[in-house]
Amino acid sequence: MQKIVFDHVTKYFGTAKAVNDAHFTIQEGEFFTLLGPSGCGKTTLLRTIAGFYRQEEGDIYFGDRKINDVPTHERNIGMVFQNYAIFPHMTVFENVAYGLKARNVNKKETEQRVMEALEMVQLQHLRDRVPSNMSGGQQQRIALARAIVIRPGLLLMDEPLSNLDAKLRIKMRSDIRRLQKELNITTIYVTHDQEEALAVSDRIAVMSEGIIQQIAPPEDIYAYPANQFVANFIGTSNFIEAQCRGSKSDPNEAEIQLLGTSFRLPILKSYEGKSLFSLRPERIRLESENTGEHLIRGTVESVTFLGEKVSYLIELPNGFVIDVQEHAVEPHQLRKVKQVVYVNLQLDKATMFDESGKEAVY
Ligand code: ATP
Repeated sequence: MQKIVFDHVTKYFGTAKAVNDAHFTIQEGEFFTLLGPSGCGKTTLLRTIAGFYRQEEGDIYFGDRKINDVPTHERNIGMVFQNYAIFPHMTVFENVAYGLKARNVNKKETEQRVMEALEMVQLQHLRDRVPSNMSGGQQQRIALARAIVIRPGLLLMDEPLSNLDAKLRIKMRSDIRRLQKELNITTIYVTHDQEEALAVSDRIAVMSEGIIQQIAPPEDIYAYPANQFVANFIGTSNFIEAQCRGSKSDPNEAEIQLLGTSFRLPILKSYEGKSLFSLRPERIRLESENTGEHLIRGTVESVTFLGEKVSYLIELPNGFVIDVQEHAVEPHQLRKVKQVVYVNLQLDKATMFDESGKEAVY
């Protein structure tokens, strides 16, 4: 178990920066996820940690040890990949024992450690089977056992669940999380699946175009996205342009002009000018009657039943359409297409970005 430090790490392919100035620390025992769309640099960053790539700029430390020039096999890393990478002709036991053999661990200890690892992934009963006729989930468990049996200081996982079906992915991700906590092993996990990242991680680094956009625990990433990219990539957001200026009557308030309506918000950071609000669909309230100030009249455009919740597209003045989600109710209570509703945007629960969308200002 050790902390991992990235000190201004940049990795080029040609002149393009696949990883651009990564500068952060992963704590001991942390489950840390690199999340972002395809091509954002997640795998490249992971490969740099593993030692498959050498960064052109910056340093990487495992604990206090600079590992820039330490070869992969000396980094004490366990790895699990999307394609399992297990040997089809060897038994489950032999697959898991492979790394120990390479490290000259004796027979008795090998037997004990392999069985311990197989028990952790609940495969002890299949020790003498060959993996070729086993399910994807079982094969991925073998890969996991093989990675942890060497007692690595760091576990790297690159999209380990991508080849599994949706139900199994959910089961496996909670198994991985449990195992990681039991072993208390520093883990770096790569995925493009935001739900998976939110479910398993202690902290998430959201990446775009080689740059880390935000590092925070899942609930903070969702509630306080640092910029428009993060707000858009994690969950659903309605983006609405607004005009923001200091209130003349109260120095602690800002005046917001949005969709032709004026709102007041406490000032958290001084900001004047055009801005962009990100509103989460489940935080917007719908009223059937015009019960108060600052409600905006809208019309239900469409109703989509999603099981636990219902998604309504609501047309606001000037043809602006927002997505609003409510908990599912009895079928006869669903709002109807063309029905008039009054929308409480709850701006105090929204995030406001500067005009460029690059920085959260509220
Ligand atoms: P995915 O989820 O699709 O695997 P990713 O976020 O892991 O994507 P990377 O594979 O790290 O992204 O790629 C980052 C950028 O670096 C991309 O533009 C990619 O085309 C480029 N790249 C990756 N590997 C190489 C390579 N070996 N040679 C040249 N360019 C590369």
